[in-house]
Amino acid sequence: MKTGERAERSRSRFLLLKPMVQKTETLIIGGGAIGVCCAFYLNALGKKVLLVEKNDICSGSSYGNAGLIVPSHSVPLAAPGVIGRGLKWISKPQSPFYIKPRLDRNLLAWLWKFRGVCNMHHVRQSIPVLHDLHTASLKLYEALADIEGMDFAFEKKGLLELYNTHKGYDKGIANIHLIKEYGIQNRILQKKELNEFLGGIRTAAVGGAYRPHDAHLIPDWFVHRLARHSEKIGVRFLTSCEVLDFETAGRHVTRIKTTRGDISAEEIVIAGGSWSTELARHLQLNLSMQPAKGYSITFRRPAQCPCLPVAMAESKTVLTPMEDTLRFAGTLELAGFDQSINLRRVQAILKAVRAYFPDMDPDSLELLEIWRGLRPCSPDGLPYLGRAPRYDNVILATGHGTLGISLAPITGKVVSQLSANDKPAINMAALSVERFN
Ligand SMILES: Cc1cc2nc3c(=O)[nH]c(=O)nc-3n(C[C@H](O)[C@H](O)[C@H](O)COP(=O)(O)OP(=O)(O)OC[C@H]3O[C@@H](n4cnc5c(N)ncnc54)[C@H](O)[C@@H]3O)c2cc1C
Repeated sequence: MKTGERAERSRSRFLLLKPMVQKTETLIIGGGAIGVCCAFYLNALGKKVLLVEKNDICSGSSYGNAGLIVPSHSVPLAAPGVIGRGLKWISKPQSPFYIKPRLDRNLLAWLWKFRGVCNMHHVRQSIPVLHDLHTASLKLYEALADIEGMDFAFEKKGLLELYNTHKGYDKGIANIHLIKEYGIQNRILQKKELNEFLGGIRTAAVGGAYRPHDAHLIPDWFVHRLARHSEKIGVRFLTSCEVLDFETAGRHVTRIKTTRGDISAEEIVIAGGSWSTELARHLQLNLSMQPAKGYSITFRRPAQCPCLPVAMAESKTVLTPMEDTLRFAGTLELAGFDQSINLRRVQAILKAVRAYFPDMDPDSLELLEIWRGLRPCSPDGLPYLGRAPRYDNVILATGHGTLGISLAPITGKVVSQLSANDKPAINMAALSVERFN
C-alpha cells in the first residue's frame, strides 16, 4: 500500500472513531421519576427531548420505594424535636435513623443547615408550599392514570397512620391540629375505630388517624410505563450513558460530555437524584444535599393484608399493599453513597411491623426482594427547583428527599413551565436552588 493511501485510511479510521455530536433541543439527565416526568411534560410542550441515564430507567431511588402520594405529609422533615430524637436514636443499630460517623465537610455543612431550619417558623412556611405541590401532583396523577396503557396500580384509598404509644398518639394529634390550620383534613381514630380500616387484622396500636386524600401506586410501573408512553410520543432515551462534564461559553452550557459521546442541547435539565450534587458542582453550583439510604422489603401479598397503606408512626416505617405484593419500607441512614444492605436495619423494619401487627409474621411470607435506595435530601426537606444561577440554559429538578414520587408530576410540569418562560403557580422562592448559598 502506498504511503498516501495508508495515510488516507488511517485518517478515515480516525474519523470513524471520533464520536458524533448528538443534537437535541432539551437534554434531561437522569431516568428516575423526576427525569421521566420532566421528559413527558416537556414533550407535551412540543420540545424535542433526549433523556440520558447512566444505568437503566428507574434504577435509582425511584424503583423500590413505598409508592405513597401524600398531600397529608406536608410537614417538612426538618421540624422541632427532630434533632433530639435523632441524637437518641443515633447509637442504636436498629433505630429508624443513623449517621455513619465520619469527618465529611459536606455532611457537617448539611447537618448545620438542617439544624438551622428545625424550627416552627420553617415548618409553618413550608406546609403551604408542600401542600400546594402535593395537591397539584395528585391531580396530575389522576390525568396520567387515564392515559391508555398507563396502568401503574394507582389507588386513592387514603392512608392509615397508627400510633403504638400514647405519647406518639398525642404527638400525631398535635400534628393533625397543626395541618388543619392550613385546610388539610384528617380523621382522628380511637382504637375501636381502627378495625373499620384493617378488616379484622389485629393491631397493638392505641389509636390512629385516617388521611383520606393520600394515594399510592407501584413506583417502578409508573416510571417505566410513563417512559414507554413518552418514547411512543417522541422522547428519545439513551441508557448506559453517564454525563461526565460540561463545556460552557459565557452563560451557556454548550456541550455535555458523556460516556457515549458529546451532546449539544439548547436546554439541560439536571434530574440526577442524589448524584445531582456532583453534576451541579461541575457548573460551580454548591447544592447542599445528602443521600439518605432507606430500605424496602417486598413480599408476595398474604391473604390477611391491609387494603390501604399504613404508616407506623413511632417506628417511621410504612406498609404498602401493591397489587399482588406487600411492601414494607423505612429507615433513614446518612452513610454517604455507601449502597450496602445492612441486614440489621432490614430486620428492624420487620420487627416494627410485628410490634404494630402482632399476628403478622414476615418470616412466614414469601420474600420477593430486599432493596435499598438513596433519597436525595436537601437540609430543609424542600426540593430544589429552578434555573441554575450561572447558566441561562440549565434547570435543576432534584432534592425531593422522602417525597419524590409524590411530587414527580408537578415537578415535571413546573420544569416545562420554566422552560416555556411561564410563571408556575407555585412559591418558587421557597424552592430556589440558591437558598443555602
Ligand atoms: C425506602 C424509601 C421509601 C420511599 N418512599 C417514598 C414514598 O412513599 N413516596 C415518595 O414520594 N417518595 C418516597 N421515597 C423517595 C423517592 O424514592 C425519591 O425522592 C425519588 O425516587 C427521587 O427521584 P429522582 O428521579 O430524583 O432520583 P432517582 O430515582 O435516584 O433517579 C436519578 C437518576 O439519575 C441517574 N443519574 C445520576 N447521575 C447521572 C449522570 N451523571 N449521568 C446520567 N444519569 C445519571 C441515576 O442513575 C438515577 O437513575 C422513598 C425513598 C426510599 C429510599
